[in-house]
Amino acid sequence: MYNLVVFGAPGSGKGTQSARLIDEYGLYHISTGELLRDHIARDTDLGRIANEYISKGQLIPDQLMIDILEHTIENNPDTANGVIFDGFPRTIEQAHALDKMLAKRGAKVDAVVGLEVADEELIDRLIKRGLESHRSDDNPETIQNRLKVYNSQTAPLRDFYTQAGKYHAIEGSGAVEDIFHSIRESLRPTRS
Ligand code: ATP
Ligand code: MG
Repeated sequence: MYNLVVFGAPGSGKGTQSARLIDEYGLYHISTGELLRDHIARDTDLGRIANEYISKGQLIPDQLMIDILEHTIENNPDTANGVIFDGFPRTIEQAHALDKMLAKRGAKVDAVVGLEVADEELIDRLIKRGLESHRSDDNPETIQNRLKVYNSQTAPLRDFYTQAGKYHAIEGSGAVEDIFHSIRESLRPTRS
C-alpha cells in the first residue's frame, strides 16, 4: 500500500496533479472537495450541511470530515492498493486521525507532495476558475477567506510533515507537465 497526500493552498493545483498521479501510480483518488460537491449537487443532508461551510470559505468540522473519510475508505475495496488524499488532511487533528486510520490497516502516509504557489497567483487562478466553475466558493470574498483559513489552520501541516520527514516541497507554478515531472522525480526514492 502506498499512500500519498497532495497538499497545498486553494487553487494550488491539487486536483490537476492528482489526476496525473492516479494514471501514473494506479492509486485510488479521494478528493474531499469533490466528494462534498457531489453531495451538494445531489442535495443530500450532508450536502446541505457542507454547503453552509463551503460557501463561506470555512472548513467542514473535523469530526464530520474524519467520519466521511473513514466511511469512504471502508466502503471502497479499491483503496487497498493505496490512496491519493487530495484536500485531506487540512488540520493537525485530521492528520492525526489519518495516521490512526491507516495504522489500523497496517499502513501509513508514505509521502506528502506540497504544491507551493504565491498568493497573488492563487487568487488569479481561483478568480479565473470561478468564471466557469460555478462553485459557491470561487468568488473574490470567499477566496480571501479560504486563504486566511488555509494559512491559520492548514499551513501548520507543512511543519508537521517536514518533521516527520515526509514533506516534498514542489514549485507549483509553471506548466502542468513540468510540475508533474518534478513531483515524479521527488517521489522516486519513496517508492520501493
Ligand atoms: P484545489 O483547487 O487545490 O483543488 P480547493 O481548496 O479549491 O483546492 P477543495 O479541496 O475542492 O478546493 O475544497 C473545497 C472546500 O471543501 C474547502 O474550502 C472546505 O470548505 C471543504 N473541504 C474540503 N476538504 C476538507 C477537509 N479536509 N476538511 C474540512 N473541509 C474540507
Ligand atoms: Mg480541488
